Parts: sequence; C-alpha cells; structure tokens
Amino acid sequence: MLDGIVKWARAKSPWVCHLNCGSCNGCDIEIVAALMPRFDLERFGVLLEGSPRHADVLLATGPVTRQIRDRVIRIYDQTPDPKFVIAVGTCGVSGSPFAPSYNVLGGVDAAIPVDMYIPGCPPRPDAISYGVLKLLAALDPLAAKLVAEIESKQDTTGLVYTPEEMAATSES
Ligand code: SF4
Repeated sequence: MLDGIVKWARAKSPWVCHLNCGSCNGCDIEIVAALMPRFDLERFGVLLEGSPRHADVLLATGPVTRQIRDRVIRIYDQTPDPKFVIAVGTCGVSGSPFAPSYNVLGGVDAAIPVDMYIPGCPPRPDAISYGVLKLLAALDPLAAKLVAEIESKQDTTGLVYTPEEMAATSES
C-alpha cells in the first residue's frame, strides 16, 4: 500500500532538481521559463527542489567534463530511488559541440543513466514541458492522456527521445 501511495505522489507532484553539469545557462533559462506562469509546468504538480535528496527527477544540462563527473555521480547517488534523469539540451544529450575534447567526456549519460533526452540548443520550454509530461505518462494515466492529446494536435517528432530511440539514432 505504501508503495502505491509513493507512486501516486510521485506521479501527481514530482519534485525536480536542476543540475547544471557545465551548461552555458541557455538551457537553464529555458527550464526556468518552463516552470514560470506562461508554460506553467507547476500546474502538473512539478515543484523545483533545491536538494537532490528530496527530488524525484534530475533535470541535467550541459556537457559532462572530467572535473564535474564525480560530482554528478555523487548528486545522482544522493537522489532517492526510484529516480529519473532528463538530459536537457544538445550539450546534455551528447556533449556536442564540446565533445570529443580532452576535458569533455560527453553528455549526461557519460556519467549517469538518462531516462529522457530533450535536444535543442537550447530546447524550447514547451519541449521541456512535453518531455517531463512524457516521463510522467509512464506513471500517471492522466499525463498519458495529455501527451496523447498534444501528439494529436502537433508534430512532436524530434522533440524528445527515449534511451531506446537515442540508441537507434546513434546506430543509424
Ligand atoms: S545546448 Fe546550447 S544552450 Fe544548452 S547548454 Fe549547450 S550551448 Fe548552452
């Protein structure tokens, strides 16, 4: 029963922690825009949380450098299970255009597992909102309904990628 309550609470009010791995702040500003009243991610119960210890979702931006790698792993370990990681922006998705280089290891998945990729330099706030909703759709039927409605009204191709879609993209 407790598991069911925890799952319900996570789906209805996921707490997100913003993790800047080395971003130029472009993606970070778009995350803030997604949370502000115009796009209003908070209307889905999403709450920005300062500590990874209280978060369900890490919104990670920027490429992972050799210097930040261990800290990213430490923050991931501090986040309680079950947790989700969303890589926001092309730097977070692949490390590009900074990788490969002597001090850049790649995207966020060079350090920690990623559950959703949102490309773009930077991605638009509505793409970020759509990515978060798509992640929630796995937990909440209402979020799944909303995602289906969005997909029926606009072309969402290329806005977000699951790890499987990302692997298929890399192979092709
Ligand atoms: S993807 Fe673009 S906007 Fe985002 S951190 Fe990288 S360079 Fe900046």
